[in-house]
Amino acid sequence: MKNIFIAVCMLFSFFSCSEKEKMVLLSPSGNLTLYVKLTNGQLVYSLFLSGDTILADSPLGIVTENADFSQNLRFVGMTGIRSDGETYRLYKGKAEQITQVYYERSYTVMNAINGDTLKITFRLFDDGLAFSYRLGDFSHRFGSITHDVVVCETTGFKFPENTTAFISPLAKAKTFWARTNPSYEDQYQRNIPVGSPSDYGQGWVFPALFRIGDRAWVLLSETGVDGGYVATHLADNSEHGLYKIEFPHPDQNLPEDPATAAVQLPFMSPWRMVVVGKTLHPIVASSMAQDLVKVKYSAKYDFKPGKASWSWLTLKDNSVDPKTSQKFIDLAAELHFEYCLIDGWWDRQTGREGMEKLSEYARAKGVGLLLWYNSNGNWNDAPQTPIDRMADRIVRRNEMAWMQSIGITGIKVDFFGGDKQRVMQLYEDILTDANDYGLVVNFHGCTLPRGWDRMFPNFVTDEAVMGMEFCTFEQANEDKRPVHATTLPFTRNVVAPMDFTPVILNPRLGVKPGTGPVRVTSSAFELALPVVFQSGIEHFGLIPANLRQFPDFVWTYFREVPSAWSETRLIDGYPGRDVVIARRRDSIWYVAGINGENTAKTFSFKLPFPEKAISAMLITEKNGSMYEVEQREITVEKGTPIQIQTVGYGGFVLIINSQ
Ligand code: CA
Repeated sequence: MKNIFIAVCMLFSFFSCSEKEKMVLLSPSGNLTLYVKLTNGQLVYSLFLSGDTILADSPLGIVTENADFSQNLRFVGMTGIRSDGETYRLYKGKAEQITQVYYERSYTVMNAINGDTLKITFRLFDDGLAFSYRLGDFSHRFGSITHDVVVCETTGFKFPENTTAFISPLAKAKTFWARTNPSYEDQYQRNIPVGSPSDYGQGWVFPALFRIGDRAWVLLSETGVDGGYVATHLADNSEHGLYKIEFPHPDQNLPEDPATAAVQLPFMSPWRMVVVGKTLHPIVASSMAQDLVKVKYSAKYDFKPGKASWSWLTLKDNSVDPKTSQKFIDLAAELHFEYCLIDGWWDRQTGREGMEKLSEYARAKGVGLLLWYNSNGNWNDAPQTPIDRMADRIVRRNEMAWMQSIGITGIKVDFFGGDKQRVMQLYEDILTDANDYGLVVNFHGCTLPRGWDRMFPNFVTDEAVMGMEFCTFEQANEDKRPVHATTLPFTRNVVAPMDFTPVILNPRLGVKPGTGPVRVTSSAFELALPVVFQSGIEHFGLIPANLRQFPDFVWTYFREVPSAWSETRLIDGYPGRDVVIARRRDSIWYVAGINGENTAKTFSFKLPFPEKAISAMLITEKNGSMYEVEQREITVEKGTPIQIQTVGYGGFVLIINSQ
């Protein structure tokens, strides 16, 4: 059998010329061009935007226990071009109705030694490229093999020489507090030359943003990862601008759990995605992480996005008692928030009977409770309880049945730390079971969600960001926050909801008033964050006593600011410097800006709406105050320049009701 395949391969190579083996695919509008070809037995692809190189010849391939598709490859064939698209709805994202159009083409290669075949499916959108590996069965060689183990990928992305990167390092496993790393909680490096070594020698996390001179922006990520595969990252060794995909490091999670991916055949890998724009606008508006995935199960309950009050961010562990929790339930009710999050130690400091009473109290006020859980990761030492309730299926389902019986509406599960397949399966299992018991799910201390807001109807948000809690721990983190916050809309928050837990109006970030790190941002900057950041549930760091010092219009703003959007547009900005984002809910636009620089700034921009001049409400600093805010009317019209002054680390929100 083997000899026949070799003979067939040699015949192919004898008659084929390289041009016949080269696949070309254009995007629907023709702005992007993809080439796929074999070079010395290896498969490579390249991508061009209006003739400019986005990715030079970059490697493709996977290696499994049964087959090697990294070398000795021969051309088998390619499909014709298939034009396709879809219109779908997301109830909790940055856009409500999304229409995507793409051209698709597949390329098949054969390992010349043993005749195994691999198909790679490419989709070209006007705003980027995605591809996925399709592994068939090996029945010609092994009879009826139904499983294989993917050992590694040789997938890479080779950038032109003048490219710079805006990327965040992958943490070393088992480092940081209670050995909880990696959990995607780090700063971003900005505008560093490609090939710069990563901070911890572990590589870089997705998503990763690249700037190709003044010609283009590129965002790399992956989507569609579930229990069927591992989550990957970019390797550290990026010589000559070549960033390669790397599997989880073996020391992540439990060392005895494999870092490889056991797959069922036929198998389709998660999508590798390359979002491309001449400017940052298509990057920020991209829905590719959602476009490429399918809903995995239908919602059993009416899961709602929303806003939540939360005592822990400022008041920490001791606040998780019935008395303080009641105050935050009252705050949620007063602000018309849908939820109140009760953090770790509630089982000890409130108790299970106490929680039944608290839930009854919350329900009477129209507020749903979200309960914190430890992931039961025996791969770290995080001591917070309840522990041992989320890893075992029977225990978990019993716990969720109890939650449902007392009216709990969702869970926050913390401390996963790692990207191995077993943990990907745990995320999926928690989500799937939570759907049965009417619970929305928020993960913390966790991986980047890869398409999950569409795949799992009850997944609402996920941390995977160096969030506000870090600023309450250390002044140095707070000092960097304005730069960090103006980077996230172009990076982390592009591909998935992000539970940064924004909005602290206290001047100091300690548990007791007047203690802890000094807040460096203006209150107007804080008010802009629920618009600048997108999260299916936005957990606010507001403290009742502090909020009462602010005028009524601030309360009205928090009551009305949406948590799910009909449309999102970048108006202006640059990662780490400043950002102005416009988000629409039905007929109302919220245009929010934050200044990442510590100097006063006049934001100057034009809006693509409204058609006729109308009066809009502007919230910004009162007379340049870091603390006080004011609201006033200004006139806005499509195409007419708008100028808004802010202080250093200041911000604004402009509310335009175009009805
Ligand atoms: Ca965290």
